[in-house]
Amino acid sequence: MQKIQMVDLFNQYQQIKNKVDQKMIEVVESSAYINGPEVKSFQAELESYLDVPHVIPCGNGTDALQIALMALDLKPGDEVITADFTFAATVEVIDLLKLKSVLVDVYNDDFTINTEAIEAAITDKTKAIIPVHLFGQCANMDEIMRIAVEHDLYVVEDTAQAIGSTYTFPDGTERKAGTMGHIGTTSFFPSKNLGCYGDGGAIFTSDDDLAHRIRGIVNHGMYERYYHDEVGVNSRLDSLQAAILRIKLPLLDEYNAKRRAAADFYDNAFKGFDNIETPKRREDSHHVFHQYTLKVKNVDRNALQKFLGEKNIPAMIYYPVPLHKQKAYTSDDYSDDQFPVTMELIDQVISLPMHTELSEEQLTYITDSVKEFFK
Ligand SMILES: *Cc1c(COP(=O)(O)O)cnc(C)c1O
Repeated sequence: MQKIQMVDLFNQYQQIKNKVDQKMIEVVESSAYINGPEVKSFQAELESYLDVPHVIPCGNGTDALQIALMALDLKPGDEVITADFTFAATVEVIDLLKLKSVLVDVYNDDFTINTEAIEAAITDKTKAIIPVHLFGQCANMDEIMRIAVEHDLYVVEDTAQAIGSTYTFPDGTERKAGTMGHIGTTSFFPSKNLGCYGDGGAIFTSDDDLAHRIRGIVNHGMYERYYHDEVGVNSRLDSLQAAILRIKLPLLDEYNAKRRAAADFYDNAFKGFDNIETPKRREDSHHVFHQYTLKVKNVDRNALQKFLGEKNIPAMIYYPVPLHKQKAYTSDDYSDDQFPVTMELIDQVISLPMHTELSEEQLTYITDSVKEFFK
């Protein structure tokens, strides 16, 4: 059996190696390394895949979030609500822009932002909500969009972990993750569901004015060459990365189906184990399993991680420390009892290997090993 990886990028590359290698040479020989035709084609292909009028490629998923917030003309001290249980990039950009991050708790079954907690956190200063489509499925977008309309708030969807996921509104309308709010952002970090071989990101919007604004911000605040209308940033997707993404985008649905098949295998294997709670799949969202995250109860979760490690099975804790307890983001306004779910999850969650190349032999070995621990 091949060594089990948390994310197996090597074997995925082997399947597309010929195309990738040839394309890399083509791009290098073209010498159009920045803003070349590969980037423009990728942009158009992603617009078509997502069914969204504007995709603006950028340097990475964190930049995408920062640029999205910059485009909204918020003032220092304006409040932006996001989840306590997520990767720090989301809250980092809020604070970096001198906005006030307001962290709220998540649901205890699907780990996405709790919409009642959002409503409770709204003040006169609240200007935006950043739902994170955590681990591969969409947050409760119907409710989030209802709250946003009622309180006149912007919604920026952090889709770094959920590209290719869909969400179905109660009226039956189906939308791709990242295309429901005012702006959506994503990351093409290698381990994401659509990953390149370096850094990359993108911003999506249906709003022509926001799209224009974002195109200026990513390019030093220039709307006309050498005329800087505002303070912008330099954030670009390079041509080599775009070329890789053009090869992988047509495979994204297949990649996500493979992740779902691995998740099905895990789900079935853990049926009937009272101390193992398999991840909930929201009925309104198609889960693309960026992570497969179990909740384990009445056991020492860290002992399980160590046990698996000794059997050469990597398993990760996403996330071990809530954002409200991080030195950089803590505040006197927060107390642990505002985050009862997150405080429980940090001791219960464990993510198993999840990628497109898991063999049945590997999945069997992983699930047998987890079960052995619970015997
Ligand atoms: C990965 C990730 C990001 C940041 O993406 P980078 O490309 O690494 O900057 C932001 N938000 C979430 C939820 C992520 O998982």
